Amino acid sequence: MRYFSLKDRNNYVDFKEATLLGQAPDGGLYYPESIPVWNNHFIRNLKRKSKLEIGFEIMAPYVGNTIPEKELYSIIEETLDFDIPLQPISENIYSLELFHGPTLAFKDVGARFLSRCMGFFARKLAQKIVVLVATSGDTGGAVADAFHNIPGTEVIILYPSGKVSPVQEKQLTALGGNIHALEIEGDFDDCQKLVKMAFLDEELKENILLTSSNSINVARWLPQQIYYALAMTQWEEEHEPVVAVPSGNFGNLCAGLVAKQSGLTIGHFIAACNANDVFTSYVKSGVYHPSTAVPTLSNAMDVGNPSNFDRILTIFQHDHEKLCEAISSISVSDVETLSTIKAVFEASQYILDPHAAVAYSALKDHLFDHPEQKGFILGSAHPVKFPMVVQEAIGQTPTIPESLGALMKKHKTALLIPPEYARFKSTALEIFKKL
Ligand SMILES: *Cc1c(COP(=O)(O)O)cnc(C)c1O
Repeated sequence: MRYFSLKDRNNYVDFKEATLLGQAPDGGLYYPESIPVWNNHFIRNLKRKSKLEIGFEIMAPYVGNTIPEKELYSIIEETLDFDIPLQPISENIYSLELFHGPTLAFKDVGARFLSRCMGFFARKLAQKIVVLVATSGDTGGAVADAFHNIPGTEVIILYPSGKVSPVQEKQLTALGGNIHALEIEGDFDDCQKLVKMAFLDEELKENILLTSSNSINVARWLPQQIYYALAMTQWEEEHEPVVAVPSGNFGNLCAGLVAKQSGLTIGHFIAACNANDVFTSYVKSGVYHPSTAVPTLSNAMDVGNPSNFDRILTIFQHDHEKLCEAISSISVSDVETLSTIKAVFEASQYILDPHAAVAYSALKDHLFDHPEQKGFILGSAHPVKFPMVVQEAIGQTPTIPESLGALMKKHKTALLIPPEYARFKSTALEIFKKL
């Protein structure tokens, strides 16, 4: 499989190069030159296959010959090393719980696959791979855990001081080893600005092999298809499901769309958004107006210009009508998010995190107009990662799962720095000098 840049269809790279570069040098997103079509036998027999077989079958064409089969098997085995159950919540809504991984968020799947591919490629490189990541909470934790102790890689995480939850902060700062946390005296935008400047800094790039780990990276984006297939192995209802995806940068939804294009029997998608509704407006009007993000209770989805938007347009060949046949989009307010968490808890004792609550509310709206259908949401994070919101909604906080006990006892190590590029750069160079 080759990948081209969405800004220049004559510029091809293989999976290895696309993974190491993250984004094409011309600033475009990498996109597979063709979307594989799964054979009928595979789709019909999905329920009889193991997680590992499904993961391998989906990813092998994308990876091509850049990673040997045996190696790819073990990468997938490590990637999927936790349960992904489809839990009933109400009569017509299920949740695909993607939060039983090490950092309790769906990003574990993509980050683990990415880190292990990078680790494999790093073995043949003279230089260490340095992953630079800005986080509002979830991404950094998943990336830190995924890369921890992967030889040949170092991770620098920038997070906004005082703006991540206690569980998230431990996940960012307590691992040590090849994971370096910088606590920025500013907000998420400040962190992102510093990272963007670093990627434009020729002097920095001369000295180190700098790469990114967000859903722009094909090795993080594409393996997310696997759990849509795993959901279908557990789907026992008569009709094809409606799937509601809590969306920010739209990597998750975009992976589901690719899986459907390959043949997965998903009926319809709902792009569930919070007050950051540029995609919802685009679906309604056909006009795309990126904007700056506004803060909401589902902060991992506070994105004003979703980075995977071009990929979604490409899937539908820029045909707005076709896109609307496959995707509906609903924007959910903070008030509705809170009332959804409360109503679901009162009806079934099930605690939704604020992101899953946005998806639940959107799916419920859709099913109200289509009572013959059923569906599932992507349960993108464990509610314990957003205790303040859950407390506000239901008057209690979820208990921290035992799996986090050891981490919560570890000490935080982070360098507190102001949001100034010069300070950031000298700190980063200091870290590299010691490697
Ligand atoms: C990152 C994140 C999202 C948004 O996912 P995208 O792939 O960026 O659309 C939704 N929910 C949670 C909990 C997240 O961490």
